[in-house]
Amino acid sequence: MSEQTRLLVLGRQGSGKGTQSMKLAEALGITHVSTGDLFRREVARNSALGRKVSTYLDKGALVPDDLVIDVVMNQTADLAGWVLDGFPRTMAQGQALVDALDDSGVDLAIELDVPVHQVVGRLSLRRVCDGCGAISVAVADDDSIQLCNACGGHVGRRPDDTVEAIELRLTSYDRLTGPLLIWLDSLGLLATVDGMGTADEVFQRLLAVIAERLVLSVETVDAPTSG
Ligand SMILES: [Zn+2]
Repeated sequence: MSEQTRLLVLGRQGSGKGTQSMKLAEALGITHVSTGDLFRREVARNSALGRKVSTYLDKGALVPDDLVIDVVMNQTADLAGWVLDGFPRTMAQGQALVDALDDSGVDLAIELDVPVHQVVGRLSLRRVCDGCGAISVAVADDDSIQLCNACGGHVGRRPDDTVEAIELRLTSYDRLTGPLLIWLDSLGLLATVDGMGTADEVFQRLLAVIAERLVLSVETVDAPTSG
């Protein structure tokens, strides 16, 4: 485990991968790269990329491979260590990532496993502030708008968190990410972690898996030179 660690965090939308990726980045001293955040930022700025991306996000559809690969390669080019959150989502993206990386490749891909009915419940209550981006949990599943305690912005449902869009994304996940998980596993890169429980409980599981899996690879790499 070091500032050069390269991790992928995979899981259904609502599995908590954003929160866990941030915690991992902080604990390991690596950079959290979230394609979702990046895209939303470009959409808010109404850049050329943002306009392209918003046509997909508004429908709850996935952004096409070539577009997302360009963006990720751009973002990670100068970084030693990172945790990728929201990428890759498909086999093609996974292969493109491994092809584009140098020999150090990816250290570990972690799938956060949370059952479908659980993530639907979590997503339908997720609210976001249009001012500061803070994520909160609503008490009721309605479309009311609250004011943000931190910045006074409007706190409401994200446009892509409607039931229809959530279901579309979950179906896409099983169809597109399923083969990617099998492929990562065949390379010996996949660890599946139970994503149920509090954020801290899940985080402790992640740290344990990373310590167990990456100590082995670090020893292998260090063996010839260590005295
Ligand atoms: Zn706010």
